Amino acid sequence: MAEGISVKNRTLSNFLESNLSELKSKGLYNKIDSLQSSNGPIITINNKNLINLSSNNYLGLATNNKLIKAANDATIKYGAGAGAVRTINGTLEVHDILEKTIAKFKGTESAIAFQSGFNCNMGAIQAVMDKNDAILSDELNHASIIDGCKLSGSKVIRYKHSDMDDLREKARSATESGQYNKVMIITDGVFSMDGDIAKLPEIVEIAEEFNLITYVDDAHGSGVTGKGAGTCKHFGVSDKVDFQIGTLSKAIGVVGGYVAGTSDLIDWLKVRGRPFLFSTSLTPGAAAACTESINILIEDDSLVNKVWENGNYLKAGLKALGFNIGHSETPITPCIIGDETKTQLFSKRLLEEGVYAKSIVFPTVPKGTGRVRNMPTSAHTKEMLDEALAIYEKVGKELEII
Ligand SMILES: *Cc1c(COP(=O)(O)O)cnc(C)c1O
Repeated sequence: MAEGISVKNRTLSNFLESNLSELKSKGLYNKIDSLQSSNGPIITINNKNLINLSSNNYLGLATNNKLIKAANDATIKYGAGAGAVRTINGTLEVHDILEKTIAKFKGTESAIAFQSGFNCNMGAIQAVMDKNDAILSDELNHASIIDGCKLSGSKVIRYKHSDMDDLREKARSATESGQYNKVMIITDGVFSMDGDIAKLPEIVEIAEEFNLITYVDDAHGSGVTGKGAGTCKHFGVSDKVDFQIGTLSKAIGVVGGYVAGTSDLIDWLKVRGRPFLFSTSLTPGAAAACTESINILIEDDSLVNKVWENGNYLKAGLKALGFNIGHSETPITPCIIGDETKTQLFSKRLLEEGVYAKSIVFPTVPKGTGRVRNMPTSAHTKEMLDEALAIYEKVGKELEII
């Protein structure tokens, strides 16, 4: 017994040591910087103030006073924690109000809130799909979609990124094979590495042709596209998408995830969505702050307009300097450097000069397409963006990128 344990320990420590040193030697080990400030347009790291182009706080709502007040008020009234999972007695009024507000915002019959967008995909996919089913999944889908599909036990059929001919072909062969009970198409609404938008009009057309279930995870679209209501709204296909997934953690500015859909779908997820049944609900403060945030978006589109304006301004500036900014259709602005080592050096030099923009390299993006990804928000001023552009110009020339 004792021997068994020591062998196991040795094996684990060998595993950790060899893998960690391999990552470090290849420059792929991600050292996490902690912030000494809120995650706003200017952040403080190691006592240095930096222009922040790396958060998902698209609308600056994470530090909005109305949200902070809503979180405080709910915390005082209901406590710091919800006390139980939703299905025992961890459903507080604030959760019901949040779900009604989400449904109103998305224009669906109903909605269900999960503790995160990641959790949402863990729960929602496997609640309806099983080993007798197949899922057609875009090859660039988010990690939580990939894991959610795996958990379902369904056959996962990957199609080429946004390639509608490939999708149609694979939809045809999956349905004609007669092997599967149900077939689902699953896609990100906005792809976070390039900022491109899924071709939802064609996706719903293919789904109608072959009678498929449609699932759109709009984590980066919620609060940004479709005047804030997301990518399904942007294309006017909301009533043709069965699962509209969103996150409350990015533009909405707090934490959480949701599914918006028909009452039957949401009723089913409330009895079969495992993280909903087996993990404690959102804190009352988070639920109330999310409701406040969505109410702000329902009443006023100025923040959404501002993030697009800032995104367009930054893109135009980087392009004019001669950077390759890819083919983004959203405020997400990649600056593609190519070589991995050079990308990391570029990001490091930006940091030294006062801009926080993380490098993203293989395996997150294909080899040779290393990039620094910029996420402008509504909270950035024109002066901040001009300063960031001046730093980009300096570092870009220094490293002979432009
Ligand atoms: C960020 C993201 C998630 C995870 O959302 P969280 O609320 O942060 O857990 C899920 N899906 C996609 C497509 C995402 O981009």
